[in-house]
Amino acid sequence: MISDTLDAEAKSNATERMKKLLKSAESLKVSDQVPIARYYRSLIEMHRMAMAYIDDGNLEKGLVLLVRFCWFAMDEIRSHVDYSIHESEEKRRVAELIPSAMTKAENIKRELKKIFEAEASHFRRLLEVHRRKQQEEQEAELGQTMEKAAREILAEEAAKAAKTDRMLDKKLDHIEIVDPNMATANLNFPSLSSISAASTATKPSAPSINRVDKPTSTPGPMSQKRMAVSGELIEKFLDHAKENTMNNVETCGILCGKMVRDRFMVTHVIIPRQKGSADGCIAEGEEEVFRLQDNEGLITLGWIHTHPSQTAFLSSVDLHTHCAYQTMMSEAIAIVAAPAKQEVGTFVLTPEGLSTIGACELTGFHPHPGIFLIFFFILCYFHDLEAQRLFTAAQHVVYSANIPCTVIDFRNR
Ligand SMILES: [Zn+2]
Ligand SMILES: [Zn+2]
Repeated sequence: MISDTLDAEAKSNATERMKKLLKSAESLKVSDQVPIARYYRSLIEMHRMAMAYIDDGNLEKGLVLLVRFCWFAMDEIRSHVDYSIHESEEKRRVAELIPSAMTKAENIKRELKKIFEAEASHFRRLLEVHRRKQQEEQEAELGQTMEKAAREILAEEAAKAAKTDRMLDKKLDHIEIVDPNMATANLNFPSLSSISAASTATKPSAPSINRVDKPTSTPGPMSQKRMAVSGELIEKFLDHAKENTMNNVETCGILCGKMVRDRFMVTHVIIPRQKGSADGCIAEGEEEVFRLQDNEGLITLGWIHTHPSQTAFLSSVDLHTHCAYQTMMSEAIAIVAAPAKQEVGTFVLTPEGLSTIGACELTGFHPHPGIFLIFFFILCYFHDLEAQRLFTAAQHVVYSANIPCTVIDFRNR
């Protein structure tokens, strides 16, 4: 109920709501550590995602991505150290996409503004109903208290009157009472009418928001779509990683798929050419992976890697890798398969993780603020501590046996 009220309050002001939505678009800071080519590829993906959301009817999320695309491509990326020297097909494509993206964003903004305004008056009415019910409840409570007090006063008065009557009866039993009703007929109890109305009313139930009347709104930009992962994905990926695993070398892959109505479906793992070690894996030849995704219309939905001898967790390097995925797409996941420990983890960064890692400029294995270096190596054995703070199990993911999985291994091509 409280969240419903807050939600209604947040949506009862259309201008504020639009402002907040647009502000959420500017949440990505460029970092020189990330190759500029990767930003341009992400921008193309972001544009594709925006279009998918709009086609899906989720205008809010579509608009956020479009505005983010325009803002990042026209403004933020200029502060990258390689901006002026970088030339690529992707940079040209992004430049081509900007004008239509801006027009589209403006149109959607106008459309959403109308929807927000219509919803705002609806939510203002809901709030008014809620406030009135609250007031009635308070009045009813006050009424009950007053009724009780009045009853006590009346009883007291009656007792007093009876006593006086008895005394009068005794003293003046020879006097005839002409009008026995006279004593009370003109007495005025101004609060009685409201008291009796309140006392017959049933206790007001908790005010409820009428969901039937609620306009069909698109999910907010913060809402997460569910993600369904092919049930055979991990087994297939581990099969491809087998040789590396036996040699204690990590293997990494990119999780790809599509957006189907209300959910993402992870249907592909692309294993890029790579250099792996016991505690790391660096992808190479990202261009060919990107071309393939582009041709097949596959969206990047996260990544997967093995920990050949360790447990399933996100190391500090993994946290940085995943931060780049999750800032581009809030639903992106990191799967860690630890065959030696028979563990699989499906992780996302917590809000604290996103802000901590986003602000961290260190590279390689390193501790994060709040963890002193001296304890770092000890803490490595207590991954749960780090897990609770910076990353956590993804709650929006389900593994589904009905989704087939394709593994594309560039290492063998
Ligand atoms: Zn790892
Ligand atoms: Zn860091």
